[in-house]
Amino acid sequence: MEIDDNTTRVRCELGACKNRAEHAIRFDRVGIRSRLYVCDKCLRELYEAIACKIVPKSIETAKKRGAKKERK
Ligand SMILES: [Zn+2]
Repeated sequence: MEIDDNTTRVRCELGACKNRAEHAIRFDRVGIRSRLYVCDKCLRELYEAIACKIVPKSIETAKKRGAKKERK
């Protein structure tokens, strides 16, 4: 998956968003309609939502590691 800068005049496809899409998320191994057009705001929101789902575990372990180092 890659994210390209979108140069075509397309609207953001996420939810009820009506902003102009500034990014095109390109999926591998999908048919003709293999791009999801999103605006900058939605891309950030999407990133934050993904980060909430994926990052916390690594942050927790990093904090634990940091805390252990501080104790030593
Ligand atoms: Zn949007």
